[in-house]
Amino acid sequence: MEKQMQLLWELQEIDAELDEIRDAQEAFAPKLESIKEDIGLLQDAAQEYQKELAGKDVERRDLRDVVERLKGLIAQSKEKITQISNNKEYFAVLKELEHNQKALEKNEVELLGLVEEIESIKEQIADNEKELKAKYDEMAGEERVISEKIANLEKKIKAGDKGRQSKAKEISEPFLRRYQRIRRRFKDAVVPADKGTCRGCNVNVPPQVYIDLLKGHELINCPNCQRIIVKRAEAEAENTES
Ligand SMILES: [Zn+2]
Repeated sequence: MEKQMQLLWELQEIDAELDEIRDAQEAFAPKLESIKEDIGLLQDAAQEYQKELAGKDVERRDLRDVVERLKGLIAQSKEKITQISNNKEYFAVLKELEHNQKALEKNEVELLGLVEEIESIKEQIADNEKELKAKYDEMAGEERVISEKIANLEKKIKAGDKGRQSKAKEISEPFLRRYQRIRRRFKDAVVPADKGTCRGCNVNVPPQVYIDLLKGHELINCPNCQRIIVKRAEAEAENTES
């Protein structure tokens, strides 16, 4: 029984080490995650810019058509005006010509503004692409470093798992199951009890239970927290012997 307690204690030490390695491994994920998020945002922005650009291009095409049409009308009016003999018709065509020239001016200014807008969107797209490329590079670099570290930890986990398996083989099935069940709730499933106190929950163990523990004939759970309690002095003595 005392050997079993000792083995459980040792198993817990291996498990604690494995937990630590796995935690270290998991800590890398958020780093990559945050770069991925940045990339996602930049990709969304790129899509938005492209949509905006496409919309502005349609506007520009339409406006160009308007400008061309007005130029045509103006040319027609100018042509017509040279062939007019009566005043009334002359002023009517002149009025139309002036109207179209004003419209042309206004549309040309608008078109110029639109062209500038399109240029600035294109610049934004280029900046965005630059940023995106930098993020991709950053991620590639981080991934290289992290995957190397993870591979190292993986090796440690494999070695630890091997040690754990051979340790677990020495422990009786029911004890192992009991330990694993408790460990789902408490990382320190096996705790020392000294001076009659469970070191897991710091509550005094009833005297009869403590006496049973000292006898060492059975595996004792703390009646308060259900952790497995072991005799601390014995565990330490065994450690120094070995
Ligand atoms: Zn307890």
